[in-house]
Amino acid sequence: MNNIKILTDKCTGCTICVKVCPFGAISMSAKKAVIDYDKCTLCGACVDSCKFNAIELQRTTNKTPNLEEYQGIWVFGEQKRGIVQPVVFELLGKGRKLAEKLKTEVTCVLLGHNIKDKAQELIWRGADTVIIVDDPKLEHFLDEPYNKVLVQLIRKYRPAVFLCGATVIGRSLVSRVAVKLHTGLTADCTGLDIDPKEGYLMQTRPAFGGNIMATILSKNHRPQMATVRHKVFKEADIDKSRKGRIIEETVSPTLLTSRTKLLDIVEEIGATVNIAEADFIVSGGRGMKGPENFAMLEELAQMLGGSVGSSRAAVDAGWMPYSHQVGQTGKTVCPKIYIACGISGQIQHLVGMQSSDMIIAINKDPDAPIFNVATFGIVGDVFEVVPKLTKKFKEILNK
Ligand code: FAD
Repeated sequence: MNNIKILTDKCTGCTICVKVCPFGAISMSAKKAVIDYDKCTLCGACVDSCKFNAIELQRTTNKTPNLEEYQGIWVFGEQKRGIVQPVVFELLGKGRKLAEKLKTEVTCVLLGHNIKDKAQELIWRGADTVIIVDDPKLEHFLDEPYNKVLVQLIRKYRPAVFLCGATVIGRSLVSRVAVKLHTGLTADCTGLDIDPKEGYLMQTRPAFGGNIMATILSKNHRPQMATVRHKVFKEADIDKSRKGRIIEETVSPTLLTSRTKLLDIVEEIGATVNIAEADFIVSGGRGMKGPENFAMLEELAQMLGGSVGSSRAAVDAGWMPYSHQVGQTGKTVCPKIYIACGISGQIQHLVGMQSSDMIIAINKDPDAPIFNVATFGIVGDVFEVVPKLTKKFKEILNK
């Protein structure tokens, strides 16, 4: 039970708490603060701001018992039609780095049918152990059986950390798993690290509409669960000298029942651009001044065999379709080269592209924040620089 209340005898009606509440949950009535419990999230901002100690917040934490028994890092081995998804290799790469800091092991858990041959690559990519549950009923993702099987495995093996791709499947699956296990879940992390003092998983993600980067710790519950979008981290390299063990688990048929039935899988048809897979991206922002000028970026992108991306400002202005948007509310990309043209580099854009191998920024403002993440910065007018770049690439590539 959580409880928050205004101590009316101490409340002076100063209204500071009304101003600091991020959720608009406090108002004044008869010169006393009043909390709207439907809006209050118990964040505690008002408690910290009250100079008169007039707000009392009682938090009871139902800690996961025996926290210290939870060890190791787990990665969910998402597969589709038997193909392990690239985000799994990215999480294995990150998982290894976290495991080295914690001096622990990485386990990849793989559910599906006829998938045993996938285990070796997961070991080459960084898993010390692969746990496989192979059953025809797990061939394709279904919420209920996947959820029940994972919960059982987590209860049995007790990992300290559980990482999953922020994919359509991952988002649906782990939120249910977290609820069942009474633990927290940080969705769409853009950074993961280990707190050097206590060994907690530091889960960083944009918060409050992307205006701040929040680092979230789950101190009282296990596993510490996080989802990460595809392309935020680099894929782990294949190291064929790595050795690991494979555990085949069988589960009770009752765990495999489902109230939903998969009738068919229909692949998305359409011309939506998958910039997430492009090796070269030439991206334009408000500095491109209008939709007609994106032709210049298209020409450069084609020269490089890449795609055109855009900032949200360009999408909001109707210059580019949403499928091209890079950033927090668009796609996360990790090309070999990202060329940002007339993009200022606000944090919401950076979280979608800052792990690119090389970033080339063209901006006429030398103080534009994009230059803080750029490998090469060109201070200049896009309308002069881009045609020159295209001409030079043409010469070099003999096109
Ligand atoms: P501006 O910030 O206006 O920058 C234009 C730049 O062009 C300036 O730096 C200027 O110096 C330069 N310029 C102008 N003319 C020229 C020229 N001739 N030559 C060279 N340079 C020139 N944004 C995203 O991109 N992706 C997201 O997913 C995203 N999600 C968001 C989610 C939320 C909740 C919020 C609140 C915002 C989000 N935004 C997102 C918006 C983000 O905050 C910025 O507003 C946006 O990225 C700015 O786009 P921009 O850099 O194109 O435009």
